[in-house]
Amino acid sequence: MRILVVEDEKKVASFIKRGMEEEEFSVDLAYDGEEGLDLAEANPYNLIIMDLMLPKMGGLDVIRQLRKKEINVPVLCLTAKDTVDDIVAGLDSGSDDYLTKPFAFAELLARVRALLRRGSQDRGAEIVFADLRLDPVTHRVWRGDKEIDLTAKEYGLLEYFMRNPNQILTRTMIAEHVWDYTFDSFTNIIDVYVNYLRKKVDRDFSLKLIHTARGMGYILKEG
Ligand code: CA
Repeated sequence: MRILVVEDEKKVASFIKRGMEEEEFSVDLAYDGEEGLDLAEANPYNLIIMDLMLPKMGGLDVIRQLRKKEINVPVLCLTAKDTVDDIVAGLDSGSDDYLTKPFAFAELLARVRALLRRGSQDRGAEIVFADLRLDPVTHRVWRGDKEIDLTAKEYGLLEYFMRNPNQILTRTMIAEHVWDYTFDSFTNIIDVYVNYLRKKVDRDFSLKLIHTARGMGYILKEG
């Protein structure tokens, strides 16, 4: 497993590198956004740990550039900012998870493992619901004949819906299954993500599949 760490604080960068290497990961370091983008484009990383406040190019811009080029490597954002707006901005750019500084290494490691597990799972045959089709091996999704381009997190959310159709999924269930932990006060991140997914999966189609179960959560069902 090969990880890229983009972090301009050299102490933090080498702390993460040392810890990850003890866990048998190989780690490359970049100290600014441009270097991080260059490395991420040139190498097939399993995961990127991205600081947001970086010289030359901010972390969110790096993530946007990667997603624009359809490089869908899982990205864990690290930042000192901890407001909901910042978290939402981070997720909006196409990152997959978010950890605020200061953090415990054990928590970083747990989240890295969760993202990697999700990214590398080969979970067999295609799943079909209505005219939605999802391939768990290639992570490709189609609605009818149209292929739908999803970020890693949107994909994880849709797969969870499609493996549990016609039942209400609460925000807590979604947080635990798709993010592997509970957000506590940040459950609106789930709403933000469901809205992204709806835009891609439902907006251009007359039959809506993702529905709000008011006061409870969401449900995948026909009509
Ligand atoms: Ca920084």
